[in-house]
Amino acid sequence: MVPFVWSDGCLRHEPEAEIWIGTRTPATEVPQRARAIREALLEGGAQEVSSAAHDDAALLAVHDPALVEFLRTAWDDWSAATLPSDRVVPYVFARSGLTSGRAPAVPTAVWARAGLFAYDTMTLIGPGTWEAARAAVDVALTAVDLVAGDGPIAYACCRPPGHHVTRSLYGGSCYLNNTAVAAAALLARVDGPVAVVDIDAHHGNGTQEIFFGRGDVLTASVHVDPGAGWFPHFLGFTAENDDANLNLPLPPGTGDDGWLTAVRDAATFAAPARALVVALGVDAAAGDPESPLEVTAAGYREAGAILGELGLPTVVVQEGGYDLGTIGPLVVETLTGLAR
Ligand SMILES: [Zn+2]
Repeated sequence: MVPFVWSDGCLRHEPEAEIWIGTRTPATEVPQRARAIREALLEGGAQEVSSAAHDDAALLAVHDPALVEFLRTAWDDWSAATLPSDRVVPYVFARSGLTSGRAPAVPTAVWARAGLFAYDTMTLIGPGTWEAARAAVDVALTAVDLVAGDGPIAYACCRPPGHHVTRSLYGGSCYLNNTAVAAAALLARVDGPVAVVDIDAHHGNGTQEIFFGRGDVLTASVHVDPGAGWFPHFLGFTAENDDANLNLPLPPGTGDDGWLTAVRDAATFAAPARALVVALGVDAAAGDPESPLEVTAAGYREAGAILGELGLPTVVVQEGGYDLGTIGPLVVETLTGLAR
């Protein structure tokens, strides 16, 4: 079994809710997700490795320092202001069209500041959010250390997820882009390009944006077609494809056959790389409440095998997956396929 990295710190983020299409709905990105995965891994005999603290170098290689500083201080500032909401929720957004392209002012009002960095209303910040997001970065970086050392594969059992976070904006239940941080850290250690293959049900828009146009990190994403009405709505289309970016949008209802064909295409695209990051969302599984894809457990195992056949040093970073009854077994299936 693939070794996995764990930190109790990842459990500290309790979003409680999302403000989704104007309504406060219960959060689905809950600490129990990580606990369920860990339980399944230990049952499967996987070796647990404790996360080690890392400095901000890899984090700041992919994120605007202003975003990192906002996330670090947002809850303390919000709670000190004794506001009516028990979570940081943006209400006004600093869109570029608002200021004729000028940099927007930093609001003096604490309750307006989130609008500089959030791109949706469903990604709430509370006590422990920063600590958990930063712990997830350390988990990903510890997995990179394992692969750079003994290798060949390590799994970062972390949350909150990260692949929707761009260089300077958070959203999509994500705060810091763990996958991108892992890719940047690997890039510093291997001679040649790194690939990210994102098999979460949703487009890895943040990772795409961070590395877009660079060429040293190849990004491929297999996801439900945003044009069919799915997050992140504004991107994730084939029109964004170039030599270093491959989007493979799939219609709702796609099962193993179509999904695995796309995973094979993503693997072929990643083959020239010297190291691989797999952004592992298991929300493409049939029965997951957050996506209309219909992938089976056997499909996830086969996806793991396809990516494992590349024979690259591989860091697997946990992204989505919201069915608490199956999230653990689906991760185990994927890692089993990878290590085959
Ligand atoms: Zn997802």
